[in-house]
Amino acid sequence: MKKETVVIVAGAGPSGISTSACLNLHSIPHIVLEREDIYCPIWTKKSYDRLHLHLAKQFCELPHLPFPDSYPTYVPRKLFVQYLEDYVTQLKVNPVYNRSIESAAFDKATGKWLVKAKNIKTDDMEEYSSRFLVVATGETTDPFIPEIEGIESFSGEFLHSTKYKTGAPFANKSVLVVGCGNSGMEIAYDLSNFGAKTSIVIRNPLHVITRWMMYVELELLKHLPYDMVDGFVLLLSKFWYGDLSKYGLTRPQEGPFAMKDKYGKYPIVDVGTIGKIKSGEIQVFPGISSVKDDEVIFIDGKSYQFDVILFATGFQRTTQKWLKDDEDLLDKDGIPKQSYPNHWKGKNGLYCAGLARKGLYGTAMDAQNIANDIKKLL
Ligand SMILES: Cc1cc2nc3c(=O)[nH]c(=O)nc-3n(C[C@H](O)[C@H](O)[C@H](O)COP(=O)(O)OP(=O)(O)OC[C@H]3O[C@@H](n4cnc5c(N)ncnc54)[C@H](O)[C@@H]3O)c2cc1C
Repeated sequence: MKKETVVIVAGAGPSGISTSACLNLHSIPHIVLEREDIYCPIWTKKSYDRLHLHLAKQFCELPHLPFPDSYPTYVPRKLFVQYLEDYVTQLKVNPVYNRSIESAAFDKATGKWLVKAKNIKTDDMEEYSSRFLVVATGETTDPFIPEIEGIESFSGEFLHSTKYKTGAPFANKSVLVVGCGNSGMEIAYDLSNFGAKTSIVIRNPLHVITRWMMYVELELLKHLPYDMVDGFVLLLSKFWYGDLSKYGLTRPQEGPFAMKDKYGKYPIVDVGTIGKIKSGEIQVFPGISSVKDDEVIFIDGKSYQFDVILFATGFQRTTQKWLKDDEDLLDKDGIPKQSYPNHWKGKNGLYCAGLARKGLYGTAMDAQNIANDIKKLL
């Protein structure tokens, strides 16, 4: 039987639970559909032990529940998970779990969204219908591993970063981390701390900043123009880290936050990896050309043996597979077509939360805007 409601929220990550909390405060009936068996699975199940929020806590609060005063400025994963648990309990967020949304289409005749979700436990297809639909399925939806010639012949172990918890099982092993975003860089640091012989592939130019530089940037942005602040932080980074090209790291032409906003390339918030690269504890390699047995062949023609390849190669969004009748909200890559802050509202009661590359701060803004807008329309 079809379940009717006013709003369907797709996904129970931080964006989905924030939207649900804001809808609750307006007493707007809604259903949150989540394919996993728990809220915020990136944080509760799929991240490594030493992870901390990269941004200071005041930029990561979800709406209507501040972090406790006792929390440190950079909240560790364990405490963030505790905060999320308090959030769903106190703000009465009750997602329907094990429901994977397979399609969502707008029915012009009834003016409603028809959502089909697979019950993962029973394999049954269920139908839901609502006047409004909020896409909160995340910027980082499904683990992505690139195609590499010969990878199937690799005789060692390979895994995606979402399966990595700690470096302990990799002590004394030779591990190649592929991918140099924040996860790859931090996992390389963790592996090295646990005694793994660690290497990392760095193919593209990247910006490296410290936590305090990120903090300075976010504070300055409240008062100064974007370009000026970005240029200033770039100068700070050059002064602090010096020329890293001899270690295999080059900087992009554009500033750290221009790269994030335009291309979704986040600056690396260094947790100590650069020091280990400089001291030679972590080796840097260029792109991989192919794999043969336990050997990885790099694009410079050199080859080395590894016991483990860890892919910190990010995620791919799958919204385009299930979302039909989206006239102008998201592009084919699942990113809003309109730039921030006009990105969150589409046509026919369609919204998106947490997709504008603004982290948890953007999530909180989107959730409140969406709930207020729906309240106004009802
Ligand atoms: C390692 C890591 C560290 C980060 N650190 C920070 C930080 O310090 N500060 C910050 O601001 N941001 C940080 N981010 C970025 C971002 O804030 C988080 O990724 C955050 O979890 C995004 O929330 P979300 O709800 O938008 O997406 P997600 O957390 O990805 O949640 C999306 C939800 O939708 C569900 N879903 C997807 N497809 C379907 C479907 N078809 N049907 C049903 N459910 C579906 C997923 O299972 C998931 O639960 C970090 C990200 C990562 C990966």
